[in-house]
Amino acid sequence: PALFGDRVNSRGFDLTHPPTLDAISEGRMPHHDTIWEVAPRVAGIDAEAGEAHDRINPARPGDVVGHVTAANPSAVAAAFAAARPWDDRADDRAKALTDAADAFEAHAGEIFAILAREGGKGLPDAVAELREAVDFLRYYAAQARQMPDAAPRGIWTCISPWNFPLAIFTGQIAAALAAGNAVLAKPAEQTPIIADLAVRLLHGAGVPEDVLQCLPGGGEVGAALTADERINGVAFTGSTATARKIAASMADHCAPGTPLIAETGGLNAMIVDSTALPEHAVRDIVNGAFRSAGQRCSALRCLYVQDDIADKLIQMLKGAMNTLTLGDPWSLSTDIGPVIDAAARDGINTHIAQAAAEGRVLHQLAVPPLGTFVSPTIIALDGIDQLEREIFGPVLHVVRYKARDLDKVIKAINGTGYGLTFGLHTRIDDRVELMVNRIHCGNIYVNRDQIGAVVGSQPFGGEGLSGTGPKAGGPQYLPRFAAPAEAHVTP
Ligand code: GLU
Repeated sequence: PALFGDRVNSRGFDLTHPPTLDAISEGRMPHHDTIWEVAPRVAGIDAEAGEAHDRINPARPGDVVGHVTAANPSAVAAAFAAARPWDDRADDRAKALTDAADAFEAHAGEIFAILAREGGKGLPDAVAELREAVDFLRYYAAQARQMPDAAPRGIWTCISPWNFPLAIFTGQIAAALAAGNAVLAKPAEQTPIIADLAVRLLHGAGVPEDVLQCLPGGGEVGAALTADERINGVAFTGSTATARKIAASMADHCAPGTPLIAETGGLNAMIVDSTALPEHAVRDIVNGAFRSAGQRCSALRCLYVQDDIADKLIQMLKGAMNTLTLGDPWSLSTDIGPVIDAAARDGINTHIAQAAAEGRVLHQLAVPPLGTFVSPTIIALDGIDQLEREIFGPVLHVVRYKARDLDKVIKAINGTGYGLTFGLHTRIDDRVELMVNRIHCGNIYVNRDQIGAVVGSQPFGGEGLSGTGPKAGGPQYLPRFAAPAEAHVTP
């Protein structure tokens, strides 16, 4: 927070305040049926058109949200040719980024509409996402002002995921730009529309068009943007498997030592012991496992609950789940929206079906008939090691443990090799200390849920298979985008 000076994190919107809700509804309404047109944003060149796709609302199969033209090889070549670092003074760059933050807030209605219709995000999630994007812009701008002599590395490729299509897209870019780099940004194939709006607002706030270019598309565009000797750094958030491919490609094509900042998946656990306050734990479990339809890399995947309280806690958990409303995220009464697309739904459902065949499904909810919804589900496991992969959806695995086995539990959690978030509910202080010292992971949350890291207060990122660091929204992140000090000392 010190980096913000007297400026604090975005205040967001109070959704319990009726006039605020009215204002949001009014801002969103004109975009209820807008069809956005998205094409590559390549400086000064009309890139040849690539393939065009319709983006469809995951909650409403008949709702076309946009027409998107992907970047083709000629667009990628044109973007490389046009790219140039941002040679304005740090103060001027920071000013453009904070002006962009203000512009994002001024466009909240359109942003919430796109996040709902393209990304399946309900209003609370959309508000949190806009706040995070704005916080990233202001945080890195403030930090750039404190490092006026930092030199850019050159051209950065930024590849972002669909689950935070505004916040993570903006965070990567804001850090790269704050340090004065040229940016080639590739948003996730599922969410190019919100990214295109963010780029338009950044350009409108003064980021030059040849400094920030946007290349929508799929894996082939990503591959072209990470297999080129002109790249001086890559920021990537997505799967561990894709991060490995990027690292291999960079090793083949880029200069030795070219940085890769990768934030990847997790198999995040929570331990609830018999001293926990059950109502409190249940609220945080529901949030961590099911909010955002479980589509956060920070989400709770595997709950360890001490056997003395397990029956009671699981019973309460089922009751809490039964109060959740699944539906169109445009509606204010929706708690859980769809997952991002049919491929995601089918992959999660395959996992649930396998558990059902083994008699391990403890609870499920009904899903709306249309759209790519997945039923929030609880599955019983014997241990986290039974999870072969991250299930990126509203599926909570539950393991009962005995107090004397706590040490084995810690080893099993560390044994996944992932280390992103961990949650603990206990009222024993020594146990908190023990866990914090022994669990290997980036973000540990005690007696709260384990999602929703706040820029500047809870730098976010993992270790092991979960990422390279440095953590986003923390003091180490931006310096990684700048050239090392010794490289720009003039003799
Ligand atoms: N920063 C987000 C959170 O704390 C998660 C980011 C992600 O899912 O990639 O919930």
